[in-house]
Amino acid sequence: MEIYSTLSRSKENFETINDNRVNLFVCGPTVYDDAHIGHGRTYISFDTIKRYLEYKGYAVFYIQNVTDVDDKIINRSKESGIPADELARKFEKRYREDMHKLNVDGVNLFARATDHMPEIIDQIQRLIDKGFAYETEDGVYFEIDTFEEFGKLSNRNVEELESHREIAETTKKNQQDFALWKKREGVDEPTWPSPWGDGRPGWHIEDTAITEYYFGEQYDVHGGGLDLIFPHHEAEITQMEAVSGKSPMVRYWLHTGFLNVNGEKMSKSLHNFITIRELLESYEPDTFRFFVLSTHYRSPIDFSKDSLHQSERSLDRIRKYYEQLDVEVTEEVNSDYEVLAKWGNEFFDSMDDDFNTPKAIAAIFGLINDSKNELYNLSEEDKIAIKSFLDDASHILGVSFELQDVNAGSDDLLGLISEVRSELRAKKQYDLSDKIRDNLQALGYDIND
Ligand code: AMP
Repeated sequence: MEIYSTLSRSKENFETINDNRVNLFVCGPTVYDDAHIGHGRTYISFDTIKRYLEYKGYAVFYIQNVTDVDDKIINRSKESGIPADELARKFEKRYREDMHKLNVDGVNLFARATDHMPEIIDQIQRLIDKGFAYETEDGVYFEIDTFEEFGKLSNRNVEELESHREIAETTKKNQQDFALWKKREGVDEPTWPSPWGDGRPGWHIEDTAITEYYFGEQYDVHGGGLDLIFPHHEAEITQMEAVSGKSPMVRYWLHTGFLNVNGEKMSKSLHNFITIRELLESYEPDTFRFFVLSTHYRSPIDFSKDSLHQSERSLDRIRKYYEQLDVEVTEEVNSDYEVLAKWGNEFFDSMDDDFNTPKAIAAIFGLINDSKNELYNLSEEDKIAIKSFLDDASHILGVSFELQDVNAGSDDLLGLISEVRSELRAKKQYDLSDKIRDNLQALGYDIND
């Protein structure tokens, strides 16, 4: 299996540090608002990557951090009057609900920044002791000049390091030095005690403190969206390799492309976003998942309702074919059906080639096109083998191939409508209640009062 790593800018053979174990870390959300479908794109991609690694027999331990202390959370808390911790918990809960709806359930551990203050403080202290960091009157900073390899992930240089997400800093030795700890004495904001006074951590340190604690100094795979390569992931490498003296901190750096709208990244700040919740009011989660996986995880996706509808139709084609197989998979069968062998191999070769899901999905359509006219001629074994392959593909992609019951939920809806109608009748609003009855009858429902 080959995986593209941003660090080497090439596809590399996948070799883990410990046998069949994979330690996977992906930067999680900053929980100050609902997640949008751009976030959904990134997390669906990593969920599918984890599913495939597991399918290949790896035991994957997948951690996501949750940034629950940050300027954005504090600002939103001040605007809304909701305490920062309450706000963060609320949106963390909603984020996890959204992920569950998208069938993104692979994270083994959500690690909150605020639950790892001792580890964060300890790592900062070791950076100071080793001469990589220094304290000033407003914080603790990493001194970039002490780490020669800065820029190796992003191919960018120190001068380009902006102070992302940081308040104006005047006491740094060099403008490029980034914050490890921000002193906040006597302010009306969440703070934690530390050897450098009350304050809170900088943005980058929570991730390396968390991964060092759970995985150790070096691990297998680190993921995130393209926007995080610089400065965030660059800073992570800098901190961790400085403190451990070991390189590489991470073997494979995986970055997802953006979900764009009209060529622009979907983001909160550009106000061009659709939340996952909004999307799922009108579309099945599987449709969005299938839509995301129809593009390679490193490529940009242009979001439009038209392309989402196209995905809906494509998924429907797979489901209708799957339904036609009309067999049950009870045990492994032997089949030498060549069409299946060809497209089955193509599916797995594509997944082995840097998780190429669009090619893998194309292989499913290859199988459908080449076999649909001869299904009635195939033996029971061949059909079971096809179905078993599709079950594996469905599990890897995290998308159901069962025809969906379009009436699911309609009983609840009918119950609700008839309750409303009874209330209208009780209030003698017969115009409205009769209108509902007439419309329901026109739709074929029998109404007896
Ligand atoms: P944030 O909470 O903004 O730090 O984002 C959480 C994750 O979602 C990061 O890995 C981002 O790179 C990713 N992300 C944010 N916006 C998009 C987008 N439009 N397309 C794909 N990934 C995104």
